[in-house]
Amino acid sequence: MWLHRVLRDKEVTVLGIESTAHTIGVGIARNRPPYILANQYKRYTPVMGGIHPREASRFIAENAPSVISAALKEAGITMNDIDAIAVALGPGLGPCLRVGATVARALSAYYEKPLVPVNHAIAHIEIGNLLSGFEDPLVIYVSGGNTSIIAYKDGRYRVFGETLDIALGNLRDVFAREAGLAPPYISQGEHVVDLCALRSREKKLLELPYIVKGQDVSYSGLLTAALNALKQGAKLEDVCYSLVEISFSMILEVAERGLAHTRKKQVLLTGGVSASSILDKKTKLMAEARGASFYNVPRKYAGDNGAMIAWAGVLAYLNNIVMEPSEAVINQRWRPDEVEVPWRSQNGRSN
Ligand code: MG
Repeated sequence: MWLHRVLRDKEVTVLGIESTAHTIGVGIARNRPPYILANQYKRYTPVMGGIHPREASRFIAENAPSVISAALKEAGITMNDIDAIAVALGPGLGPCLRVGATVARALSAYYEKPLVPVNHAIAHIEIGNLLSGFEDPLVIYVSGGNTSIIAYKDGRYRVFGETLDIALGNLRDVFAREAGLAPPYISQGEHVVDLCALRSREKKLLELPYIVKGQDVSYSGLLTAALNALKQGAKLEDVCYSLVEISFSMILEVAERGLAHTRKKQVLLTGGVSASSILDKKTKLMAEARGASFYNVPRKYAGDNGAMIAWAGVLAYLNNIVMEPSEAVINQRWRPDEVEVPWRSQNGRSN
């Protein structure tokens, strides 16, 4: 198992910083059980409207020091026990990423600890692998800012499908807001659009655009059409039901084709939208129909968090992926397929 290799290496402890969107997360991870020593975060919630990058970045700057202290306290260690500082340099919102990068550069320079760059999407995958014990899954990563089908092949995580415009989580949040369902988006642990869809008694599927182009999906036309249907007098419950059914079917269609193509035997569902029990059920059915095992990352580690950055930082640091603080520049559009993942390829696993 791939984890054995990580265990054979010298013991390292990494502090990871996440600030790609609305969350300032600080985690601490080690290549020894229990692996995750701390996972602290504070989440910015706008009073109204969507995430304003400037306000979110201010929130992150104001809260970073206390979240770092809380993480060290939770792990019961001090900065002296930390071997390296990992930071998510992208993809994400520029102003938010910049604050996390600045904090990481400062910690790295002041405490003289190596700085480890981490791709946010890859961190989502690796913490999922850690928690599930999966070796080589097809990953369905669905959140407010990302919608991708990802799988490992020949030294990198490859994208086997993605959204051409807005992310699945963004579709749900914007619809909820425009339809007057939010805030808050989450109620009783479920998204308000899902709760509304479950109230649709007739389960009436409206004719809304189902847009899959090759292996990619497009959600912006669906959003516009759903809002138009509402304006034209369709029942809110029916619009929600149709939106949920169509948007989930679209991403699962490309995921299923990705699974057939890559012949992976494991399906990992992660990102903020994985908290949807409707999506959980549908993805499980799809995976089972293909004879693949299924794991849905628990909410605490599926939404943006610092523990996943720390854990991906452990894997990267053990493979000597470090940079000078002066080189640690953010990349708002940093794709996972641009990143070498030697912790997998050196494993002799290049299927
Ligand atoms: Mg994310």
